[in-house]
Amino acid sequence: MRSLDARHAVYAGSFDPITLGHRDIIQRGARMFDRLTVAIGVNPDKEPLFSPGERVDLIREIVSGLPNVAVASFTGLTVDFVRQVGAAVMLRGLRTLTDIEAEFTMTLANRALAGEIETVFLMASEKYSHISSTLIKQIARFSDDQSRSMLSAFVPPEVVDPLCARVRTRVD
Ligand code: ADP
Repeated sequence: MRSLDARHAVYAGSFDPITLGHRDIIQRGARMFDRLTVAIGVNPDKEPLFSPGERVDLIREIVSGLPNVAVASFTGLTVDFVRQVGAAVMLRGLRTLTDIEAEFTMTLANRALAGEIETVFLMASEKYSHISSTLIKQIARFSDDQSRSMLSAFVPPEVVDPLCARVRTRVD
């Protein structure tokens, strides 16, 4: 078994779509580790707003200024993907007490599956701790041309147009 790299972290999530909170964790993670892989988990039971390929492309555009960040998608268990890329760390963001409870359970399960992989948590920035992809999709659905500029308080600028276009086609 090849040894895992403790300077390489994987930040996994749905990122449907990527938010300012996610981008903040990516930027901070990229400063902490030599390599950071942003991994889009594909859940076959869920119908996402953006396909895995679209999410990979969007996130690549957003992290293009960070040379040690790679972006990929995966199916299956996150720990299997982490092992596959040779990383020893999973990076997660924490917003609320509810997040802590869910993350605690998931971390213990992941530890049972892959004891050689450590999970590292970053507290969300107070500027972004209220932001979730679910909330953003709801706001986008009900915003008109005038209020759509509000979305840039929640998502990176690269996401605003694709998000508005997508919710519009879904509603029509
Ligand atoms: P998941 O489907 O795994 O919840 P998400 O894309 O929603 O995927 O989240 C991925 C990770 O990013 C999780 O660790 C989550 O807690 C964290 N996260 C989500 N939103 C924020 C935010 N606004 N600030 C910091 N971390 C966040």
